[in-house]
Amino acid sequence: MSLLVVGSVAFDSVKTPFGEVAEALGGSATFFSTSASYFTKVSLVAVVGSDFPEKHILLLKGRGIDLKGLQKVEGKTFRWKGEYGFALNEAKTLDTQLNVFQTFKPEIPDSYRDSKVVFLANIDPDLQSDVLDQVKNPLWVGCDTMNYWIEGKRASLLKILKRVDLLMINDGEARQLSGESNLVAAAAGIHAMGPRILIIKRGEYGALMFNGKSVFAAPAFPLEKIFDPTGAGDSFAGGVMGYLSRHEKFSDSQLRKAIIYGSVMASYNVESFSLDRIKNLTEDEIISRYRKFKELTHFEAMEALDE
Ligand code: AMP
Repeated sequence: MSLLVVGSVAFDSVKTPFGEVAEALGGSATFFSTSASYFTKVSLVAVVGSDFPEKHILLLKGRGIDLKGLQKVEGKTFRWKGEYGFALNEAKTLDTQLNVFQTFKPEIPDSYRDSKVVFLANIDPDLQSDVLDQVKNPLWVGCDTMNYWIEGKRASLLKILKRVDLLMINDGEARQLSGESNLVAAAAGIHAMGPRILIIKRGEYGALMFNGKSVFAAPAFPLEKIFDPTGAGDSFAGGVMGYLSRHEKFSDSQLRKAIIYGSVMASYNVESFSLDRIKNLTEDEIISRYRKFKELTHFEAMEALDE
């Protein structure tokens, strides 16, 4: 089933202990759609300014992403500036310039209105609502957000969460959204806000999934070199949603596989700046890392202590 995503397309300026990059291609929808494009057909809804170069459009088109919903308007593209400390665990936002997103009115092309799966990537929750209003009858909806919106637009965020099946946020955001410091309690609080499935991303510690019936934990891939974590959450979400959107309904076991695909995509993403690593992956690379995840977490059951 085709997957519709709304989110940011951005210029990111990022500094890590290992280097820095200025105005590189980024944005939640960019990382998401590139990652998901390995699994399914993706349609993108976003806005860029007149400063957005053709080479970036060609990169996204090269991944087979449908860009009919990407508006190009007079003005400057969204910009985000962030920095990571030595532990690379959490981005410190230094600057956010909404630019063309400030006046953006999403218009969903007719050919997108029948999309069965929708992902509301990190963006103003009012824009997430606008997009969802224009999709006729989605089977299920995924969503991401961040502290910027939890603080600044809580009421709008709570409104959209009532319409969301699967929420993917990081541990800090889960605590902030729920007001609970314990993640199990946070998950219960967030289920009550609407999403029946909650995936909590924990950076280098992996991800936790709560669906009301079971809890699943996936590690992050132990990489020797992590270059830039920017976009890890979005490429994780792209792998999860891309794999799940191959199915009308999905079981607990498919959800677990999806989380491993998400972890595979995030692990490749952090190996370089911007989209450098995930723009050219092969199916073999994806499958081989999936298998390594299986080995990483495999252990035998025991019947007694002295077995
Ligand atoms: P993550 O996957 O969490 O590392 O997300 C990083 C991406 O989020 C960057 O490429 C940024 O351009 C984008 N971003 C940062 N702040 C915002 C915001 N307030 N709204 C939308 N996108 C954002």
